[in-house]
Amino acid sequence: MLSVAFLGLGAIGRPIAKRISTAGFPLTVWNRTTDRAAAFARDIGVRHATSASAAAKDADVVITCLSTSLDVEQVLDGDLLAGLKRGATLLDCTSGDPATSRRIAGKLASKNVVFIDAPVSGGVRGADEGTLTVMCGGDARDLARVRPVIEAFGKKIVHCGPVGSGDAVKAMNQALLALTIWGTGEALVALSKLGVSANVALEVINASSGRSNASMNLFPERVLTRAFPRTFKLALLDKDARIAAQIARDERVPAPLTQLAADLCTLARTELGEEADHVEAVKVIEKWARAEVR
Ligand code: NDP
Repeated sequence: MLSVAFLGLGAIGRPIAKRISTAGFPLTVWNRTTDRAAAFARDIGVRHATSASAAAKDADVVITCLSTSLDVEQVLDGDLLAGLKRGATLLDCTSGDPATSRRIAGKLASKNVVFIDAPVSGGVRGADEGTLTVMCGGDARDLARVRPVIEAFGKKIVHCGPVGSGDAVKAMNQALLALTIWGTGEALVALSKLGVSANVALEVINASSGRSNASMNLFPERVLTRAFPRTFKLALLDKDARIAAQIARDERVPAPLTQLAADLCTLARTELGEEADHVEAVKVIEKWARAEVR
């Protein structure tokens, strides 16, 4: 059985790592804030290491799930690269950027280590349930070798193309997420002011052509309830939408909506702070309109 090191026990990293352990893969975890790794290791009954290289030393598959690709590169240039086993695979579940992923893959190739970008979608609940969508960039044969580990947390696993293409698909998906949250927010605030309740509006929209994951799940569960649980930071959605806008620019594709998604995320992040959840962006629309979604 492939041995696994998991680096980055944040909101989505923890449930992914838990599923890998539950599936029976020998697991060692590491986290920058060591106390988090120690607490997780105690709860789940796995080993934890105090450095990234110590965690990775004997691992066939090293999984990273950090905030950005630059964070992954920083850990790699720290002590991780020196600690990786020849022939190992670095599977990066960070929602990263293609250019940095390609640079990381180059550094790893010199040590005979394979890189696959493998960002995920489906949120913390999807990770808990093992139903994430995993979009992968890299060599198809390399992916086949580590697929059993991905199957511990992913239900739909798609090979998107060479290194960086998983990151690219994820970034574009996130720009669409930002746009549907913002658009649905504008629609429901305006309808609330007009006197149509959000429940009624969503009953119609969710049986009509304007529906989306935002209208079907995020608004009913998080906005109408005013629960706004903090599961995925707005700061991370901002990072994702900026990657999407950069890809469009690099490819010389006029993409005003993608750029707008990025700018709206940055604006909301500035307004609401680094800890706000992505769905809380709706609060900015409500503030401008001096009205709540009701
Ligand atoms: P969190 O902010 O909850 O956790 C971030 C993790 O990265 C922490 O373990 C943090 O360590 C670590 N980290 C950040 N910077 C560094 C660094 N320079 N060196 C070492 N470790 C670092 O983020 P999430 O878990 O929510 O997200 C992780 C990735 O997954 C992101 O790319 C995000 O976009 C993506 N994602 C998240 C989803 C979600 O629902 N939350 C859904 C899909 C994708 P420390 O504990 O020390 O701060």
